[in-house]
This record gives sequence, structure tokens and C-alpha cells, in this order.
Amino acid sequence: MIEIKDLHKSYKMGSNSLHVLKGINFTVDEGELVAIMGSSGSGKSTLLNILGMLDVADSGEYNLDNVPIKNMNETKAAQYRNKFLGFVFQSFNLINYKTALENVALPLYYQRVGRKERQEKALKYLDQVGLKEWAEHLPNELSGGQKQRVAIARAMAAEPKVLLADEPTGALDSTTSYEVMDLIQKINDQGNTILIVTHEQDIANMCKRIVHLKDGVIIEDKKIKQVRAQQYV
Ligand code: ADP
Ligand code: MG
Repeated sequence: MIEIKDLHKSYKMGSNSLHVLKGINFTVDEGELVAIMGSSGSGKSTLLNILGMLDVADSGEYNLDNVPIKNMNETKAAQYRNKFLGFVFQSFNLINYKTALENVALPLYYQRVGRKERQEKALKYLDQVGLKEWAEHLPNELSGGQKQRVAIARAMAAEPKVLLADEPTGALDSTTSYEVMDLIQKINDQGNTILIVTHEQDIANMCKRIVHLKDGVIIEDKKIKQVRAQQYV
């Protein structure tokens, strides 16, 4: 599903340059649930943003679903992003003046799905995250955990090939974090490929594989027996 080879990324700041990714290699197969770990500043978000086509590497190869992601213009990149990738962020990134349902329906609008089908699909995905009753509520009427579930429904409504989540539990307390992880595990159980950036060990333990970044390289990449979040919620 994802193949990256010798990926490098530097940020230029004036005459200085910060080498953040120094030759990253890994592959992710369909159906995996991968945690990307590492301390703050280790390049986790940089890597996820490149995988999410929100940023480009300086060098190296990236194949997403066997499509080489290279030299794409912004229009093409946006098309691929909408078609292949779903995003979940620490800060939810919901649109405040739109209801939960409208937030979930938005990516479908960009995919030119018709109004009726948009509504039906959005409601279906809200139902899957347990928030059908909250469809007409605005984000500020929802708890943090509920907001993140809406964000997950929004990401999944577009039926992406890969779900990318950058510290999805970073703004949530432990119990709420486990509820979100329970949902992520259930989405993964259905065969969806998911990558999660986290610096929390307990969250990483709920994935099936942990990739550890340090100083711009992968220092460890291991499969684990996943801890189920269900028992904590
Ligand atoms: P992490 O997500 O692991 O905390 P990041 O990928 O966000 O790490 O950042 C890695 C390093 O790159 C940090 O030192 C950060 O300050 C720097 N960095 C990130 N984004 C930019 C940017 N747009 N411009 C300059 N430096 C950046
Ligand atoms: Mg980060």
C-alpha cells in the first residue's frame, strides 16, 4: 500500500538547513495499523505530512497504492489526496459553523457526490462512530472525544485507502483516548490501513506495529500483539 525508499527532508531556515528525515525506508501493507513513535521534534509529523501528500520530500521514492508520488502538480496531488487519503488531527479541524453531519459530508462534496447521497453517506458514517443522534449539533456542542469521532467519520466517509492520524488522542484524557482507539481498532478490523503518530506508549501498544523514529532515522520497527482498547472503555 505504502512504499518509501531513502526519503530525505530538510527545512531551510535562512542560511541554515535542518535535516529532519535522513533516509527513511519502510513499507506498509494493506490492513496494517502502524504507530509512528518518537520524541517531540523527531520528524513524525514531517513524515506523516509527506505520506499524506501535504508536503514533499527532497529526495527518495514514495509509492502509494503502486502510484509513484513524484512531480505531481498541486491539482493532481489534491485529486490523489482526496481519493486515497483520510486525515485526522490532534485539534480535530472541524468547521465550527457547520453541523456534525455537514462536516462529515464535506469531503463528499469535494468528490462531487450528489446532495442526497452525501447526506445518506454522512449519516451512515456518523452512525458508525456512534453519533447519529448528534448529527445536527455544532462542534462546540460536542465533547473532545465526540469531535474526534466526527473527524474520524469525516475521514472515513470519503472511503480512503489509508487513514493518517497525527496525535489523534493528543488533546484527550486517557478514557476518551481509549474510546477513540477502540473506534480506530474497529475501523482497522474492517481491513482499513491506518497510520497513527503518537508519543504515548499505551496508544502505540494498541496498534499492530510500532515504528520508532529518532534523529531522522528509524531505530526500531517491530510487529506487536495489539492491546485491545475495548477493555478500558
Ligand atoms: P514531531 O512531529 O516528531 O514533533 P516535526 O516533524 O513536527 O516533529 O518536526 C521535526 C523538526 O522539524 C522540528 O525540529 C521542527 O521544529 C522542524 N520543523 C517542522 N516543520 C517545519 C517547518 N515548516 N519549517 C522549519 N522547521 C520545521
Ligand atoms: Mg508532530
